[in-house]
Amino acid sequence: MIMSLNQSVLICDQVNPILKEILEKNGLKVNYESEITPEQLAEKIGSFEVIIVRSRTKLVKELIEKADKCQIIARVGVGLDNIDQDAAKAKNIRVINAVEGAITAVAELVVGLMLSMAREIPRADREIRNGNWIKKELMGSELKGKYLGIVGLGNIGKRLGRIARALNMNIIGYDVVPIDEGFSKEVGLMKADLDTLLSSSDYVSLHVPLLDSTKHMINAEKLKTMKKTARIINTSRGGVIDEDALYNALKAGNLAGAALDVFEAEPATGNNLTSLPNFISTPHMGAQTKEAQSLAANVIAEKIIQILRGVI
Ligand code: NAD
Repeated sequence: MIMSLNQSVLICDQVNPILKEILEKNGLKVNYESEITPEQLAEKIGSFEVIIVRSRTKLVKELIEKADKCQIIARVGVGLDNIDQDAAKAKNIRVINAVEGAITAVAELVVGLMLSMAREIPRADREIRNGNWIKKELMGSELKGKYLGIVGLGNIGKRLGRIARALNMNIIGYDVVPIDEGFSKEVGLMKADLDTLLSSSDYVSLHVPLLDSTKHMINAEKLKTMKKTARIINTSRGGVIDEDALYNALKAGNLAGAALDVFEAEPATGNNLTSLPNFISTPHMGAQTKEAQSLAANVIAEKIIQILRGVI
């Protein structure tokens, strides 16, 4: 007979309900407080063995230092930049995430953003709503045959490569670690250094984590190396592109377009970039699909249970 677990879990952000259901089925006591404030969290964080977050809650050092009973911090998502991992390590807390969840959701959003720019879909829709039938102005271009430069060939970059190949795009790839040979053959990947990738691509899509080494990796100097007809997409993390430099490049016409799902400061309403006609944006919704959230919730629930049972 499998023993029931009895630890307490605090879910701090909005997550798929399946997560709470699975944890409770295994005997865990779950508090679901998706709007909890940092002050409220500071008061009660010491009572829980497991703390679960998505993006809204920032588990900074001062909070983690109060998490005296905590064994696991779980992020129902990929990036761990909202969790102070050094502070967690110092308290012997395992930090886990769900890398599997968002792969398809983010890669498909990139395709949506490329098509939105290539065919000016957001503008076409806006104009019709304003009573304007601007068909003649909307001479777009096709993705077929264009060069897509993918920076960071991890889970999401690879998935994008496979979809883009099916759209008959040519794929150029750059990563700091060796790129899987099987994958390269499958999509006909041309490996390149970052400068060659930037100067050769019609579309550039960024899929790297935000680290000291990737902060502003796309800056004014790098943007200058891109073709004037090129477009850039960032669904990774705000901060990988220098937004001031991007604004200047788009404004001066040195770059044809940009699409961002992630920003240096979020929410990004009121960001300068949104005043530019050759810019489109989405509100950090890369992983916001029913499928991605359900998969991430299942993966996290399973990992928590296995850790608490001593299996992994
Ligand atoms: P991953 O870890 O599987 O892949 C990242 C890749 O980037 C790795 O192959 C790594 O070697 C490479 N890399 C690291 N530093 C590099 C550098 N300086 N130059 C080139 N390559 C470098 O990660 P993933 O799951 O594919 O996620 C990619 C990014 O997408 C992350 O930043 C993640 O936080 C973000 N993300 C965003 C959303 C969203 O909602 N928009 C959702 C999920 C993930």
